[in-house]
Amino acid sequence: MMPNIMKIKLALAAAALALSAHAAMAQSEKTGVERLYVLNCGEGTAGDISRWTPGLNEGKTMDFVDSCYLIKHSKGWFLWDTGIADSVASMPNGLAPADPKAVTWRRPKTLAGQLEQLGVKPEDVKAMAVSHTHPDHSGNVELFPQATLYVQKAEYDWPGANNEPRFKPSHPVELLSGDKDVFGDGSLTILSTPGHTPGHQSLLVKLPKTGAVVLSGDAVHFRDNWDNRRVPSMNANKEQSAASMQKISDTLDKEKAQLWINHDKAQRDSQKMAPAFYD
Ligand SMILES: [Zn+2]
Repeated sequence: MMPNIMKIKLALAAAALALSAHAAMAQSEKTGVERLYVLNCGEGTAGDISRWTPGLNEGKTMDFVDSCYLIKHSKGWFLWDTGIADSVASMPNGLAPADPKAVTWRRPKTLAGQLEQLGVKPEDVKAMAVSHTHPDHSGNVELFPQATLYVQKAEYDWPGANNEPRFKPSHPVELLSGDKDVFGDGSLTILSTPGHTPGHQSLLVKLPKTGAVVLSGDAVHFRDNWDNRRVPSMNANKEQSAASMQKISDTLDKEKAQLWINHDKAQRDSQKMAPAFYD
C-alpha cells in the first residue's frame, strides 16, 4: 500500500500539472493589443490653411504635427503610419512643399531612432499599414521591407506621379477591399475610409485600460474641421470624404472610442509620447 504522504504528493503534482496546462491554454486563447506608443514623425507649418478649410482662413498659417503609432499586440509589433521620411531630419530648414500653401515638414526625431530607444528592431515589426500614400504618412515604409503591408487595393492601384507604383512591388502586401480585423481577435481593425485619397483607411484600436481609440489618418486634419465636417479642397472625393467622417462618427459612438487626429497639434501636445505608452 502507498504511504499517505506519497498519495498527497502525487495528487499535488497532478493538480499542479492540470493548473499549468490550464494557464497555458488560457494564455494561448487570450490575444489582444497590449500597448500603443505615439511617435513623433514630424512637425510642420502649413503655409495657408484655407486649402483645408475652403472659403475660410485665407492666408493664415497653422502648426501641424505628424504622428506614427507603434502597437504591441500579443502576436507581434504593428506600425500604423510611418511619417515624413527620416532623411528630412538632416535638413536644417525642413522639406519645403511644391505648393507654398501646403506644409513645410521638419523631423526633430527619426522614426528609426525612436524605435531603437524602445529596443524594437525594424525586423521585429511583423505587420504595418499606412492611412494613405501621401509622403507625410508613407515616408519610411521601406525601413520595414519584410513587414506585411495592409493596404486598400484602391490605394495600391492608384497611379503615382509618372505612373509610378505607390509601393515597391517587392514589398509583401495584403490587399484589402474594405475593413480588416488584422489579428482576428477584434483588437485592431482597419476601417476603409476613402475620400482624402481613393484607398484611405483608419484604424480602430482596443486597448485594455485606455479603451477604444480611432486613429483617423487624414480623414480629418484637425479638430475644428472635424467639428464642422469640412472637406479640404485637395481631397480626391468629396462625397466619400463626408461618408467616411460619418462612418468614423458612428464607430466612435458604437465603440465609445476616442478620436485621435494625426495632424492635430493641440491634441498631440496633450498626449503621452514614446517611450511612455498607453495600455
Ligand atoms: Zn497627412
